[in-house]
Amino acid sequence: MRNKQIERQILDRYTPIKITDYAIKKANVISKRMCELAGESLEVSFCLLDDDPSAEDMLIGDVYISQDQRVTPAYCDVSGSGGIRSMRDIKYNLKKRIVGWGHSHANFDVFYSGTDDATILNRASKWKVKKEVDCLESILEDVGVLEENGSRVLRLDLEGRSVVLKMDMFRDHSDEYNLRGLDVLGSKKRDVGVFYGMTFNALGADPYCVLAYTSEDGGFFVKGVEHKVVENSEREVDVKEVDRQLKERVINLREIYEKESRIFERYKELQSGCEEDMIALMSGGDLDSLNELVDKIDEMSSIYRSDGDFGSEMTEMRIKLAEKLEGSLERIRTVNLELEDESLTEKVKNRLFSRGVDSKIGNLLQYVEGVKDGR
Ligand SMILES: [Zn+2]
Repeated sequence: MRNKQIERQILDRYTPIKITDYAIKKANVISKRMCELAGESLEVSFCLLDDDPSAEDMLIGDVYISQDQRVTPAYCDVSGSGGIRSMRDIKYNLKKRIVGWGHSHANFDVFYSGTDDATILNRASKWKVKKEVDCLESILEDVGVLEENGSRVLRLDLEGRSVVLKMDMFRDHSDEYNLRGLDVLGSKKRDVGVFYGMTFNALGADPYCVLAYTSEDGGFFVKGVEHKVVENSEREVDVKEVDRQLKERVINLREIYEKESRIFERYKELQSGCEEDMIALMSGGDLDSLNELVDKIDEMSSIYRSDGDFGSEMTEMRIKLAEKLEGSLERIRTVNLELEDESLTEKVKNRLFSRGVDSKIGNLLQYVEGVKDGR
């Protein structure tokens, strides 16, 4: 059963939830970039951090993308080892303290689902911030009515001080009658744990906030509490670093980007192969070199079309290659024509100028034109 006294004190002291403008911005950037990088609406889980691990007050000053998580449009699941690694990194490297669990609802509304209710209780039981509250409780049950110097008394030991209450108001009445309505309250320190929950989304909505706490009575939470933004710095969110961490820590994204980086490596390999083929062709070369060059260009074009966006680096590579090809194509023709006129043996002459040479040079020209048009 929840103890209203304890809950009231925790709410009074630890809400509204205080969070810096930087932490809010970062949580919004993480939620948004998660969807943008994945190209779909996906949740993401993070820890809410206090920059000062020993402060009495609680202030969310930073946000940490949880390690080793797998996410779906409606769920984010941090593995056991991911949770431990995150906690260690936060404690020993960043020297900060986890004070809450945050997650994004991607392109959906912020609220707390049944799953979220269970998750916040679980996280609170593990990562709660230990605090103490004063609790007034009845201590009358522990003492009985005594006979002292001819009077009926209650003798109470209140934190080392002996207090005597005389029970002589209604001598003719029973002890029960005299005790009726008398409630002797003593103050007692109680250990509690406090933990925050916040739901964000990729649309930049105001976060939905929850205060969770633990006491000897169990774990509880209060939904829909207020938050207060503390403006404390001009600090900007490092979006590149957020992207890097998302690609490293979210398993789904890591898989996509590992595949993409393999394809990108292949693209780079093809590009340098093209450059070698061009050099070979310009110094004479033969139809085999031309064939190889065309094959490489074809593969590069198909990678570019089907696996799309590898950012500006690949676009730059394409433009550079197209420029080189453009300069080289004329030379490839000229050199080969010169060879035809002068020293080329019949055999090489036949290979170079057998059907296909012009159409292959045509393919390369098409590639150059395509890059110029931004295709
Ligand atoms: Zn949720």
